[in-house]
Order: sequence, then C-alpha cells, then structure tokens
Amino acid sequence: MATRVAINGFGTIGKRVADAVAAMPDMRVVGITKTRPTAEAWLAASRHFPLYGVAPEHVSALTDAGLQVEGTLSDLLQQADVVVDCSPGKKGAANVAAYEAAKVKAIFQGGEKHAVAGFSFNALVNYKQALGRSKARVVSCNTTGLIRTLFPLHKTFGIDHVHAVIVRRGADPSDSESGPINAIEPVLQLPSHHGPDVATVLEGLSIATMAVAVPTTLMHVHAIQVDLTRPPKGLDAVLDAWQHTPRVMLVRGDRGVVSTAQVMEQARDLGRQRSDLQEIALWEDGIALDGHKLYYYQAIHQESNVVPENIDCIRALHGKVKDQTESMRLTDKVLGLSTSTYP
Ligand code: NAD
Repeated sequence: MATRVAINGFGTIGKRVADAVAAMPDMRVVGITKTRPTAEAWLAASRHFPLYGVAPEHVSALTDAGLQVEGTLSDLLQQADVVVDCSPGKKGAANVAAYEAAKVKAIFQGGEKHAVAGFSFNALVNYKQALGRSKARVVSCNTTGLIRTLFPLHKTFGIDHVHAVIVRRGADPSDSESGPINAIEPVLQLPSHHGPDVATVLEGLSIATMAVAVPTTLMHVHAIQVDLTRPPKGLDAVLDAWQHTPRVMLVRGDRGVVSTAQVMEQARDLGRQRSDLQEIALWEDGIALDGHKLYYYQAIHQESNVVPENIDCIRALHGKVKDQTESMRLTDKVLGLSTSTYP
C-alpha cells in the first residue's frame, strides 16, 4: 500500500514536496493544509489535493472563499502515515504535540532547530539511522548544499576543517516583502549558525561559516575552503569524488555559466517542473587545489534542493524501503534528476 502523506503548510517548500510525493509510485498525498485562501490554496484544488484548514477558523476562511475543505489538521492526521511539516520557520515545533497525539510520523524542515526531532537528516549520510524513527528534520537548503559536496570529500580524503562563506539570496522569487533590495547585509553573529547545523548531520566535522544576504532571488552561492586530511593526487581525484555523488551537478564558466543567472537558465532549459534545480551546481572550472587545501564555489537552488531529501526521509521513516540507494535512485528517477554512481 502506498505511504499516505499529509503536508502541513503549502507554501514554497510544501507545494514542491506535495508534487514530488504525488509523482512517487509508492506514495500518496492524503491532504494538505492552508490557513488562508491564497493562490496556493487554489493550486492545491486544481491538483486535486484534499484541502484542510490548520484550525477551525481557517476552515471557514477557506470555505468562505469558495474552496472545498475536508476538515482540520487533526482530521487530516488521522489518515496519514507521515506528515511533512512545511509551516513557516520556527512554527513547526508547536505542532509536535499534535503529531505525537495522532501517532503519525513527522518530518520537519530546516527552519526548526535540531531539537524538534533530535535527528537531522540527509539521505546520503544517515538514511539508515532514520529508518523507522518517529521524527526527523530535513536540514535547510544551505546545510543540505554543504553536506552534499562535503560528504564525498570527507569519505574519500578526510576533512580537518572547513571554512565557508555563504552568499544568501535576499528573498524567494515569490516574496515581495523580504530584502535587502539595495544593500549587502552581513550576519554579525559569528560564526554563523550554518556550520553547527552541518555538524548535526556530519557529526564531529570541524566547520566555521560566515554569511551575507544580497539583493537577488536566484540561488545562494557558497565559497568553500576545505583543509583535507589526505591531499588528493590532483583535481581529477576530487572531481571523481563529486561525479560519483548523486544530486551534485558540475557546471562550467567557460561554457557561459558564469553566474546564478545562467545556472537558473540551464534549469529552465532542462524543462523541470517550476524550472527547479534540485542538484547542487558546482563550478568545475572554479576549483583550486593547493596541497591539502581545496577551494570551490557552488550554487544552491533554495526552493527545491531539499525536496528529494524530504521524499527519501518519508521512505526512511515509514521504513518500507530499507536501502538508501534504492530510495535515492527511485526519487531521482521520478524527479528526472541527473544520475551518477550511488553510494
Ligand atoms: P512559506 O512561507 O513559503 O510557506 C509556509 C506555509 O505554511 C504557507 O502556506 C502558510 O500559509 C502556512 N502556514 C502558516 N502558519 C502555519 C501553521 N501554523 N501551520 C501550518 N501551516 C502554516 O515557507 P517556506 O519557504 O515553504 O518554508 C517552510 C519551511 O521550509 C521553513 O522551515 C523554512 O525554513 C524551510 N525551508 C525554506 C526554504 C526556502 O528557501 N523557502 C528552503 C529550505 C527550507
């Protein structure tokens, strides 16, 4: 029987997770929640996702707008094996009690703290440890991006220390309220929270991060410096490690991909849903190796790179697919991601 999945919160991440779940042969969307009759509520209706209000007052707001509503979140939870909490950052923690009471397995997003689930997930690193758990947190887009390219280095060469500068998009493309729109805003609390967040998954990794927000909606960019334990024989060995890592895509400046604008244009050309790029784009001709020091840049499509991780996390928590590779292969095949060798 297909895993029955509820999505609580249907915004940037929730609607993408819902579409991905609906596409999987072994999963079914049993319902999504909304608080207000926004365009996304109508999108859910057009996708035939059963619509629920989070609380009774939301049901009336949605019904008054002419939407068909099936009940509240507590009604929805009765029908689900797994709920994916895609509510705004820091709001998910308030839902833990409701999920526990309904005895439904729960996945939280990166806007929550590690403590919300006591376990932070990345499919490449700790799928097996997630098997059968009642709760997990899929780490944020930036953390997922760092883990995807650092893990193969960690496995192949060992890592003594990582220093990364995160250039963050000021807002998502659909957001007309956030900024900055004419400034560069450094995160003054240093090191930034991203490093410790990576270490919730890559336990024991020595990593320090800094971050600045810039006026763009097109992706985050990371400038990364890694002190490797065992110096690679050459750049080919480093490239080989990444080329054998799923969900990492090499791009080249000398082929005209010199900024996030062209990376996103490539994503449009790939013809994926919403022009999303779930892989991490890593500049193949922007890598330098100096003994044991490695330098590289990568770009993160913040709205979509965590979607495949959510799908694998659903499978791990439900426990039906025990094998990480089997889950990741199926996810990537259905989503049409570029494939390479799996772990
Ligand atoms: P969003 O604001 O786009 O969507 C949140 C949705 O939740 C909206 O539909 C909103 O109406 C609904 N909602 C509001 N209050 C709610 C409540 N109490 N219960 C349930 N739903 C409620 O937010 P988002 O960008 O999709 O972020 C969701 C989570 O994903 C956050 O933890 C965020 O940090 C994380 N995340 C976001 C991004 C990104 O770039 N947008 C990337 C990775 C992870």
